Amino acid sequence: MECIFCKIARKEIPTDLIYEDERVVAFNDINPQAPVHVLIIPKNHLTSLLDITQSNADIISHIFLVAKKLAEDMKLNEKGFRIVNNCGKEGGQTVGHLHFHLLGGRSMTWPPG
Ligand code: AMP
Ligand code: ZN
Repeated sequence: MECIFCKIARKEIPTDLIYEDERVVAFNDINPQAPVHVLIIPKNHLTSLLDITQSNADIISHIFLVAKKLAEDMKLNEKGFRIVNNCGKEGGQTVGHLHFHLLGGRSMTWPPG
């Protein structure tokens, strides 16, 4: 399979892995947009949030609990942080494997670009 994040999840591409369990991996973004910029992905391939249904929606709560744990581990919980999902072309999604960005360590602006 050619999906780059599937390859990262299978450890076929070296990456800056910071967390792993049976369902997800988290690693540092190769092009960080903030002092902390971590990507959290399901190990199973899902193209985007549009692949989420009632039957697999539990992966989303799991990813958010992992994001919360990582935010606490990296001491982002006091000052705050942002979780982002880009979905589809106009949403800014460039990698076709569901992923959530955990961003922190600086003040975020709004609206996003
Ligand atoms: P998105 O634009 O929401 O699809 O986010 C894709 C993210 O994946 C971007 O922030 C990229 O910098 C990041 N990225 C792409 N390839 C890699 C890689 N090999 N290792 C880590 N991050 C990557
Ligand atoms: Zn994939």
